Amino acid sequence: MPEPDSTGRDTPEPQGSPTRPRGRIFQASTMTAMLEGVYEGTTTIAELCRHGDFGIGTFDRLDGEMVVLDGRCYRLRADGTAGEADPATRTPLAAVTYFHGEYDWRMTDPVDATELRAVIDNWLPSPNMFYAVRVDGHFDHVVTRMLPEQHRPYPRLIDAVAAQIISTHTDLQGTIVGFRSPTHMLGVAAAGYHLHFLSGCRTRGGHAYDFVLRSGRVRVDVGYELVLRMPRTQDFHTAQLGRGDVAGEIEAVLQGGRRP
Ligand code: ZN
Repeated sequence: MPEPDSTGRDTPEPQGSPTRPRGRIFQASTMTAMLEGVYEGTTTIAELCRHGDFGIGTFDRLDGEMVVLDGRCYRLRADGTAGEADPATRTPLAAVTYFHGEYDWRMTDPVDATELRAVIDNWLPSPNMFYAVRVDGHFDHVVTRMLPEQHRPYPRLIDAVAAQIISTHTDLQGTIVGFRSPTHMLGVAAAGYHLHFLSGCRTRGGHAYDFVLRSGRVRVDVGYELVLRMPRTQDFHTAQLGRGDVAGEIEAVLQGGRRP
């Protein structure tokens, strides 16, 4: 990333190819819509993958956690089944980007999730940008969660999470995929890290609560352009978005905390 221009002008945009632009994140729907139970998918996986080759999300009615890695979209379900997603399936919330690995670091000492987030925070040039985060390595353990498929009337996310399926995977290769979003984007995205995990064999994973990375490679891209698509559905139009303790509820549903 170029150094910020002290004259106040915007910095030149990093170069990317027309088909794989740099720094652009495409997102379908928002975290606040998830909090209020807007779970029905509107964007197909086929379309999502035209906007990026790397990202995370969920599937129609929360039926599976999504990892998009190296251009393939994986669906990890609460019943333990996993595989590539049907391109016709729809997502109610996902974010993707073209991943280039602008920053590239090696981790040689074991770190847990909290420590790794702090290390990456320390490396980043500013807390006010988006970052796509990829960590390939060997993990002593990874704790993941998945949610069961939801049905109408849809519960709020804080209540749906009560039925989460927690899995612990030990001693395995894999990849952490996700984003670090700035605090000023709270509600559109999470403030902070939202990370998913996919095993090296591509058959295990989910939303990552906790892990210990024994060693690995950390790559990060700066995101300075957000394309946000809001659902044109009755559920989205009528939801009471932004009510309540948005920060506390997002923290609780993403980091495994209790109801605030
Ligand atoms: Zn997640």
